[in-house]
Formats: sequence, C-alpha cells, structure tokens
Amino acid sequence: MKTEENFRYLFGPVPSRRLGLSLGVDLNPLKVCTENCVFCQVAPTTELTAARKEWVPTAAVLAEFDRWQAEGHRADYVTLSGSGEPTMHAGFGDVLRHVKAVGKFKTALLSNGSLMWLPDVRRDAAEADVVKVTLSAWDEDSFRRIHRPAAGLTFAKLLEGERALRAEYRGKLWVEVMLLPRFNDAPEQVRAIAELAKSLRPDAVHLNTTTRPALAGVDVPRVPEAWLRTVAPWFSPAAEIPVFSGRAVSPAKMTDAALVELLARHPIAIDALAAAAGTEPIEVERRVAGLVAAGRLAIEDRDGTRMVRVNFA
Ligand code: SF4
Repeated sequence: MKTEENFRYLFGPVPSRRLGLSLGVDLNPLKVCTENCVFCQVAPTTELTAARKEWVPTAAVLAEFDRWQAEGHRADYVTLSGSGEPTMHAGFGDVLRHVKAVGKFKTALLSNGSLMWLPDVRRDAAEADVVKVTLSAWDEDSFRRIHRPAAGLTFAKLLEGERALRAEYRGKLWVEVMLLPRFNDAPEQVRAIAELAKSLRPDAVHLNTTTRPALAGVDVPRVPEAWLRTVAPWFSPAAEIPVFSGRAVSPAKMTDAALVELLARHPIAIDALAAAAGTEPIEVERRVAGLVAAGRLAIEDRDGTRMVRVNFA
C-alpha cells in the first residue's frame, strides 16, 4: 500500500504489532535481491545479485520523505524494507541518518542479514534503532535450499556478519526465524537454529511461518501454530510467534485421522496444542486418551513437558 499514488518509495504507514505505526521505505526495484527465498511473498527475484549500488536515487527518496513529512503525516517508525534486501542500496545509511536528523521518528532496518559481513553495511546498519536479521538455516546446505542466495554469498558469511553486528551494535537486534515444513522444522533442525540464534544474543526472536502463498515457485505450506508454540521456548529469549487470525481447530473436533496426521511429522506439546486451539490441556489429554490406549499415539515427558506423538512402536 503506497501512502498516496504520488509516493514512489514510501508505503504505509501500516500498523505493526512491534513497531507501532510504521512508514515503509522501499530502496529496491522489483525485484532485486541478494536471495530468492522459497518463502518469498514479494515476488520471485528477477535480479539475483550481491552488488551494492544506488539501486534507486537516494536524493529522490530523501525528497519524497521530506515531502511526506511536510504534509504532516504521522508514524512511530520509519522502516527500511520492501521489495528486496535494503542493505544492497549503497545509500541506505544516508537514508537512516536523514530520518534520524529530523528527530521525530525511530528507525528500523529489516534485513536478510546476507551482507552484514561487510563492515560498511554494519556501520550503516548501526544507525537504526532496531535491526532485524533473518536466521532460518543452520548450515550451508540448508541456507542454499531455503534462501537460494546470489553467487558469493554463503551461510558462513551470513553468520559471521550477524555475529559481528551483535558485537558492535548497541541498538535492538531482533532475529527472525522462518520455519517451513520439510525445510527446517524437524526438531533437531529447529534446535540447531535456536543454538545459533542464541549466539547472536538477540533482544528478541520472532518465529514465523508463511502466511500467504509463496510466490517463488515453491509450494511451502505453513507450520502448524501448535508446533510454533512447542518450539518457541527452545530459543533464548523464548521466541515470539505471530498472532494468528483464527484459532486452530480444537483437537476435540478433529477426526482421529487428522489428529494422527498432524502429529505424524513431529511430537507436539500438549500445552501448545491446547493453547493453539483455545482450550485446556486436560481437554487435549481426554481427546487423545483413546488413541493412546489403542496404541496409535503415545505421550512422553520431555524435560518436564508432556508431548504427544505418533506411536511408531
Ligand atoms: S524473502 Fe526477503 S530476502 Fe528472501 S527473496 Fe524475498 S525479499 Fe529477498
């Protein structure tokens, strides 16, 4: 949503759960990005590159912002995000400094983290009050499968850059983890990501999954809310999960087949199943009791958490 038809680089402001009223600034032509993520909800990347340059004229962006401001609009945050990776724009630091100089707005940078290994990028990123970086992979292979990066970009560089940013940056660092079925949602994979995320000493971790059909040519369904709730405490600090518009179907209303299918991929905490459905854990226990007695499901205690899983024995 553009602010008005006559704004080309600004969009919103849009209400954001964490940033209040957030004015977006888009520094990338559609669709230039350092990655072509399987879950991308913008568009397939048509120019996949790690090149940093003035992809759109900085002066034009600043002039537009000044005009928006002069018109008396309001926002809590000005946020660099949009059609691609904002740190690809060689002038993104100038935009942050310009906005800051006005003294009325906080600034946020939503980055995939792929260029943070460059000292110049980290220096400019540090101008923002909040920086959010992505960490959805745990090794080179998973990084390539999920993010499909431009030549020259590696998981080692991403991790090195995000760690260096944390070491240098005094603002708020948020880490976003996008969980995708079949790509990175198995328990050992989530634990590996959680371990790496912890090493970034983030101020917050945001656990996410796809909410709209991905446009990058790969069918990526969403991870069940109950699984997000199960794994959220594995992160440090515990991950925040999105507010889902509708409640998950209560296990009490699921058929036996649907319940077994839900649990087929991985065990889920009974508390999490209940919370996702807006019911009590005791109700979930009651619902699964028959299937447990029949040997189709099993309940086990893991570190004090009661988990229900398909019984493969
Ligand atoms: S999700 Fe973000 S980083 Fe990935 S391709 Fe889309 S715009 Fe680029």
